[in-house]
Amino acid sequence: MSEAYWIKKIEGKPNFKLGQNFLIDTNISRKITKLVQGQLADPIIEIGPGTGSLTNELLKDNYRLRVLEIDKNLAAITEERFSEIPNIEVITQDAMEYDYSKLTGPWWILVSNLPYYIGTRLLVKLITEVPVIHRYVVMVQKEVAERITAQPNTKEYGALSVVCSLFTTPKLQFDVSKNCFSPVPKVTSSVVTLQRERLIDEEERLEAFNLSKIAFQQKRKKIKSALKEYFSVEELEKLGINPDDRPQKLTPEQYLLLAKSLK
Ligand code: SAM
Repeated sequence: MSEAYWIKKIEGKPNFKLGQNFLIDTNISRKITKLVQGQLADPIIEIGPGTGSLTNELLKDNYRLRVLEIDKNLAAITEERFSEIPNIEVITQDAMEYDYSKLTGPWWILVSNLPYYIGTRLLVKLITEVPVIHRYVVMVQKEVAERITAQPNTKEYGALSVVCSLFTTPKLQFDVSKNCFSPVPKVTSSVVTLQRERLIDEEERLEAFNLSKIAFQQKRKKIKSALKEYFSVEELEKLGINPDDRPQKLTPEQYLLLAKSLK
């Protein structure tokens, strides 16, 4: 059965507000699945299976899947499509509200063509709060992918780049044309992988992320002014940070250094 067959089963129109643009190009779903690089039967959590195009490819590779879909109608289509397959559990729920402590076991991999309206919020929440997810293979808007993987001193670099690189190794994999979706979205997408590290200093990394958020709120100011509530000029200099640098110039490691000095 083609992807179009399953999309036709949707009652009414796809919900634009829920980011319902479905992948119709199976080559892209296959390419995304290859990036999972898990072991056979590794557990995967997929956010927003929609009509199941990506889910279908993941199941072909024998992964065990738990899928969270907010839309009852789409969850029912996913259930129907994979009713013969034991490896999948469909949960009708908002991914922002799911209790991720239910992901038991040594590790999980998250795969998602993320709904754009919650993409970054959900990613940051999971990266900072759910260490059991050790790998992410996600499709996001190209512009978000550029921010996730941005290097210091570029216009895309910000608190999102800092948090992603403090907790994971992010990598931009490939772009996906608008024409691979139905309905056709307004923007180009990109696939990103993030490999989460084993960390012993998560609290300080979280603090470093908070400091970067505060600094980037006033990104035109010098770091000595943007973080004046926290550090004196002398303290910054002692840490090898130029007080006259702008927040964009500081590396994630420098934000971590700042956070560690607050302890
Ligand atoms: N995975 C499918 C694909 O690639 O064709 C669908 C991807 S579509 C961009 C996003 C999906 O996420 C939709 O099925 C939408 O209903 C679902 N969704 C939107 N918000 C959600 C949320 N808060 N929690 C869970 N699923 C959500």
